[in-house]
Amino acid sequence: KGLKKYFPITAGLFNKQIGQVKAVDDLSFVVYRGETLGIVGESGCGKSTTGRMLMRLIEPTEGSILFEKEEVTKLSPQQLRKVRRDMQMIFQDPFASLNPRHTVEKILEEPLIVHGIGSKEERRKKVREMLEVVGLSSYHAKRYPHQFSGGQRQRIGIARALMTKPKLIIADEPVSALDVSIQAQVLNLLEDLQKEFGLTYIFIAHDLGVVRHISDRVGVMYLGRMVELASSEELYRHPKHPYTKALLEAVPIPDPEYKKEKQLLTGDLPSPSNPPTGCAFHTRCQACMDICKTTKPEWKEVGNGHYVACHLYT
Ligand code: SF4
Ligand code: MG
Repeated sequence: KGLKKYFPITAGLFNKQIGQVKAVDDLSFVVYRGETLGIVGESGCGKSTTGRMLMRLIEPTEGSILFEKEEVTKLSPQQLRKVRRDMQMIFQDPFASLNPRHTVEKILEEPLIVHGIGSKEERRKKVREMLEVVGLSSYHAKRYPHQFSGGQRQRIGIARALMTKPKLIIADEPVSALDVSIQAQVLNLLEDLQKEFGLTYIFIAHDLGVVRHISDRVGVMYLGRMVELASSEELYRHPKHPYTKALLEAVPIPDPEYKKEKQLLTGDLPSPSNPPTGCAFHTRCQACMDICKTTKPEWKEVGNGHYVACHLYT
């Protein structure tokens, strides 16, 4: 609730602060147990920063993060460790997040050691079981990350995230680095695992195509704010925000009921260190009105759980 992350911009010998980047600027949303919430936006919109803040891998500048009933922003390092058993993250580049000098066994065992779970024997057994669960095999345990393909490495990343039996998984572009043919396999695996373990997902992606099938609801971010949020069905069939419409232009939608209005994304993403006044999207919006240049549109519900921040709907 009200999440903000401002990064200082410094310059000169004494690192004098000359400005700030509002990477996330007043973000509020809810994730329901068992659902998949997709969060979509161009790079630099603050979606990864949001994911990392929820885990407190980076500290929010302001705002509140409630996980079940715990205020995550106020936890001591010890309490945080307990909560992190329940919240795990999957990263875009599994290769960068897997220690190249460790065997898969050691990589998967580590979260159990950190959280003091099981004896060595029990841990090793769990590792072998988990490898099977993610579609690898227990004979992979003694191998090193470089001996696997990209898709297999992401399976290892997923296995590692599941080792502590988490409730919430924050997946930051988990399939963006994979070939299209492999993407579907990993997405299917994530869906199967969700059913099997009753997981809740926050699924971060840069295009609306990837999250369509996996998400129950989708939120669209632009320059540190959420501009639209709705159920997947509603968002893809009846998008309201001009930015969402423009993003959908870039996605092939095999849906005869959805009539595309031409809404192309023009111009570059403005710098987050100097965002446009009023509606941050106004420099690229074909529907821009005078009020858009001066006044921030409010976040408003326009129907059954469908939220949008745009002056066209006020
Ligand atoms: Fe476009 Fe104005 Fe809506 Fe912003 S508020 S998206 S500029 S119409
Ligand atoms: Mg990112």
